[in-house]
Amino acid sequence: MCYAIPGNVKSISDNLITIDYFGEERTARNDFYALQVGDYVYAQGGFVVQKIGKKLAEEILDSWKELFFELKETDTRLSKLHHDKTTISKGFLKIISKATYGGSISREEAVRLLLSEDLDELEVLHKSANFIRQKFLGNACCVHGIVEFSNNCMCQCAYCGINRSNINLTRYRLTPKQIRDIVGNAVERFGFKGIVLQSGEDPSYSSKEILNLIKMIMEHYPVFLFLSVGEREDAFYLRAFEAGARAVLFRFETSDDALYAKLHPHSSLKERMRYLKLLKNIGYLIATGSLIGLPQQNVETIIDDFLLAKELGADMYSFGPFIPHPGTPLSGYKAPDVGSILKALSVLRLIDPYGKILVTTALESLYPKAKRQALLCGANSVMLNLTPTNFAALYDIYPSRARGDISLEDQVTEAQLLLRSIGRAPTDLGL
Ligand code: SAH
Repeated sequence: MCYAIPGNVKSISDNLITIDYFGEERTARNDFYALQVGDYVYAQGGFVVQKIGKKLAEEILDSWKELFFELKETDTRLSKLHHDKTTISKGFLKIISKATYGGSISREEAVRLLLSEDLDELEVLHKSANFIRQKFLGNACCVHGIVEFSNNCMCQCAYCGINRSNINLTRYRLTPKQIRDIVGNAVERFGFKGIVLQSGEDPSYSSKEILNLIKMIMEHYPVFLFLSVGEREDAFYLRAFEAGARAVLFRFETSDDALYAKLHPHSSLKERMRYLKLLKNIGYLIATGSLIGLPQQNVETIIDDFLLAKELGADMYSFGPFIPHPGTPLSGYKAPDVGSILKALSVLRLIDPYGKILVTTALESLYPKAKRQALLCGANSVMLNLTPTNFAALYDIYPSRARGDISLEDQVTEAQLLLRSIGRAPTDLGL
């Protein structure tokens, strides 16, 4: 089973290489391998993650050659812009039309789109988002695996079920050996090429231990490694990059200063921003975003969140619904409805035609079919949960988390079927 298509190196210029995929060329950065023109590689997230032998590459390419074009055809068919809605306001269509040509829409225009409650307008918005995704990014879809390796957390995020004040939660931490085995299984048995290591802010896991873990993983497995471990010393992030990590999943949670302060008594938005800028400067790819549906948020703040993520140079957007957890101060609030999240993701796609948009597990937890819907309205990235089911149940950031109780085998089969049915290559072909 294969999650990525090998590409053939066409040209090399310092650490930037051009890769050919059945006649399509992409560029990727090569930080880890000695390469020559003609070599075969796997790229992920815009980085070469593995060099593979010619014979094996040709065998794999043989199994892809028809499917590669078939998927494209399906995707193109499903992302047609045509609609027969005649009653939609001219102002609305003007904004949509600007975005479909790759023009950037203003804050006011984005707000106008997000305020829409008209079913015809929404249908056009979703179709346009899908069209834009297809036009500017093609049919590649990232499929990364996430390991939630510790639910210990010293933070007090008011929405989060693993915050340190939740004394009813059984805490766990996986050992480096357990994590290595999980990653090994995902890479070797299921062909994962991108792995996210996530945890609460767990001081019992020293930065040195995490660095050793990164080194161990990079030594043994050819993966694109994401970190999602929150605020640690600046030097940690420098060293983690040197050790081979190349991306961070680090949300700013809300762009509203006052709301941030209320929800995070232990930190500030300014500090969160400082980290995001530092991480970008180090060279990490940035996956960031916020919670949608927090109390006191409104349409304007959500658009500001999107614009902030874009301004930060997000390579991947992670925006998902806030789901109230009974053991937190926000237990009395309601989760937003699925439709409002899909609408927001579509508007986000119109704001940035090029960034990857993740379908969050939180969205799937509200409604399992939302994954397909989100992929059809602008999203192009999914994560499967690699955490063993008994621990996933304890990674209780919000209740009734999707994926936590489904075996990896079943998640993989389901993802492949879904992606094939909508014409997405379960791969990430690079930039
Ligand atoms: N410690 C890491 C990872 C945090 S947990 C860090 O600081 O980046 C991962 C994400 O879960 C958070 O960024 C938060 O946005 C999300 N999350 C927490 N509680 C949630 C809730 N109740 N509903 C939806 N998402 C939640």
